[in-house]
Amino acid sequence: MEQTLAIIKPDGTAARLVGEVIRRIEDEGLAIAAMRMELLSERKAEGFYYVHRQKPFFRSLIGFMTSGPVVLMVLEGENAISRWRTLMGATDPRKAAPGTIRRDLATDIERNVVHGSDGPDSAVYEIHYFFKGDDICSGT
Ligand code: ATP
Ligand code: MG
Repeated sequence: MEQTLAIIKPDGTAARLVGEVIRRIEDEGLAIAAMRMELLSERKAEGFYYVHRQKPFFRSLIGFMTSGPVVLMVLEGENAISRWRTLMGATDPRKAAPGTIRRDLATDIERNVVHGSDGPDSAVYEIHYFFKGDDICSGT
């Protein structure tokens, strides 16, 4: 069993896509082990995207990620990290495969509806960035 962090970004909550994204997660057979809504502070968003701090799009990304509430989730299942990345599709929706969340629902490379951890180390870091052990209902 593997866990990954999923986020429905502010463009997704604003467009009332929360149910649609969760439908796709459940249809894929991934379990939701933890979930909550949060309006990220600038500081919390900057910490989360710390690896991107030198990128030209960093300030814009932080502005976007703090522009409205996000849904934070821990997803669980066999190969959860890669299965969730596959459901999401490529970062740029124009390059994302047909039938993926980003291809079907995203606006552009920044406003791309969802986040997913990109590997086992980032998954552990990101899950603990937002959730305490007690808040995660594992093995359901
Ligand atoms: P995420 O980490 O959110 O799951 P990702 O791993 O597909 O997405 P990253 O390269 O980690 O993509 O970039 C993090 C986020 O920064 C992207 O999801 C997107 O919102 C934004 N971003 C990435 N590249 C660009 C860009 N060239 N211009 C504007 N925003 C970008
Ligand atoms: Mg990433």
